[in-house]
Amino acid sequence: MMAASSEESIKDLVECVARAARITAFTGAGVSTECGIPDFRSPGSPWRVHKPIPFGDFVADEAARLEAWRRKFAIDDVHGDVMPGRVHRVLADWAAQDKVGCVITQNIDDLHRRAGLPEDRLVELHGNGTYAACLDCGLRHELAAVRPLVEAGRSPRCDACDGLVKSATIAFGQSMPAEPMRRALRASLDCDLFLALGSSLVVRPAASFPEIAKREGALLVIVNREPTPLDSVADLVVRGDVGPILEVAFRQACNLNW
Ligand code: NAD
Ligand code: ZN
Repeated sequence: MMAASSEESIKDLVECVARAARITAFTGAGVSTECGIPDFRSPGSPWRVHKPIPFGDFVADEAARLEAWRRKFAIDDVHGDVMPGRVHRVLADWAAQDKVGCVITQNIDDLHRRAGLPEDRLVELHGNGTYAACLDCGLRHELAAVRPLVEAGRSPRCDACDGLVKSATIAFGQSMPAEPMRRALRASLDCDLFLALGSSLVVRPAASFPEIAKREGALLVIVNREPTPLDSVADLVVRGDVGPILEVAFRQACNLNW
């Protein structure tokens, strides 16, 4: 396949961005691979070795909870201390310019926030893996306090209500969080350009948002290394490494007045 990250298609991307009044961006694991966090499906991914434990098992069984926590910390140890990458920075800058109204992310790595994207412009569809929360009362718990317990062979319980404490991410089999889903829907309806970046667009229901935006009249632009199931309906597909592509697009867009 011809590398679609040609100068021509980046120019088209810049034009779409320049013409847009309000962009909603949608990000997947591909925007964080350059930061050292592997995506889910690529060969050699540590997620394949330390497979996530389904939600039902976590709730039902202490041994499963301990195993879930051990795998979570094993994954965190592989990632180390990561910094935001080019896509995180560009989106934070475009948000500061009011070009990007909202970033819907499937990532749990906290990197959009750490790049300076304000809370009210960020929707974390699958939660956040940098802290934990009580499944019953929602109270936040810090990982630093959880880890010694897990290492001592006990899964954490909530100080306030004795509920189960779990990483603040959405596990397989856990229902999607209502408020982020509502905000993501609003952001998909309320944009004239929907930018899908570094996502395989196969994880549902998250991948329905680009479809909804397109159906409601927004332009759909996809930047990804691999083909996605929505390429055929997209207005523009830019194939290649999303970090350098967004960086070049950002620089070119800076030279335009909007
Ligand atoms: P995915 O792994 O299904 O897809 C990522 C896509 O990004 C792939 O198509 C891959 O080819 C592409 N990609 C990887 N690096 C790229 C790069 N540098 N430039 C362009 N494209 C690149 O990820 P997903 O669709 O986001 O779904 C996996 C689920 O697993 C997510 O919903 C998320 O909850 C979770 N997850 C999160 C993280 C994270 O927080 N960083 C990492 C892995 C998985
Ligand atoms: Zn609680």
